[in-house]
Amino acid sequence: MIDEKIEVAVAKYAGFCYGVKNAVDSTRNALEENDNVYSTDHIVHNQVINEEFEKNGMHFVDSIEDIPEGATIILRAHGVGKSTINECENKNLKIINTTCPNVLKIHEIVKKHSAEGYKIIIVGDKHHDEINGIIGWIDGEYEVVSTLEEVGQYKKICLVSQTTTNIDFWNEISEKIKSNAEECIVFNTICMATYNRQKEAKELAQEVDTFIVVGDLKSANSKRLYEISKEFCENTLFIQTESELELEMIRGKKVGITAGASTPDVVINKIIEKIKLGC
Ligand code: SF4
Repeated sequence: MIDEKIEVAVAKYAGFCYGVKNAVDSTRNALEENDNVYSTDHIVHNQVINEEFEKNGMHFVDSIEDIPEGATIILRAHGVGKSTINECENKNLKIINTTCPNVLKIHEIVKKHSAEGYKIIIVGDKHHDEINGIIGWIDGEYEVVSTLEEVGQYKKICLVSQTTTNIDFWNEISEKIKSNAEECIVFNTICMATYNRQKEAKELAQEVDTFIVVGDLKSANSKRLYEISKEFCENTLFIQTESELELEMIRGKKVGITAGASTPDVVINKIIEKIKLGC
């Protein structure tokens, strides 16, 4: 709903999803309760959050080899492969696994179906951590497909998606993959939190003059939100913090705001405050 007085509409689904909230809460607790807490990755894709963890004692290291025996390791929300879990166990590390249940579900699907002889096709971004984690549970052939042009001819396949894929793109590409396969089992593994956020962004972007997507440059779901919103509102901006927002660009306009799943409330609130004070 548009707030007439200040002309800012904030999306209901802006900010942390339950998966990221769980990862952040688990990490905060681990840092309070343990001295030697390590991670080889950013727990979530947001610089503000990762700086907070670092300030509170988190050691970010390049590899498990750099972690002392018996220390605590936090595994990222986007999930890791089986070999990473094995490596942690071999080093007697205390594992706090913050992998989102939606991602764990994909690991189970690909593990089961690759063991049954299906080639796994994953629709998603080849370079994303979540994809690397999924690949780490496949015992057999697989392919990551990011564009319609990359769709090939298949025999016996099991099709899954990265959790943050745009639903319209998924509908299109999964149809094409299915029709090019002799046998195909399809699992739509886009998470509901992503689906709701994207749907709401589409609707809200059409109601405003300027639409702002708040997220980290490394956040895949934030970038996807930007792409989707831009289709419905030409004046869509992608910003990481309030310092990147130029008030001159939005003065006198109706503004809508949404944010990626890893964007903390504190960042969103600073942007809203800046708009309210500046307009
Ligand atoms: S976006 Fe979805 S899959 Fe990813 S952490 Fe959030 S709830 Fe889990």
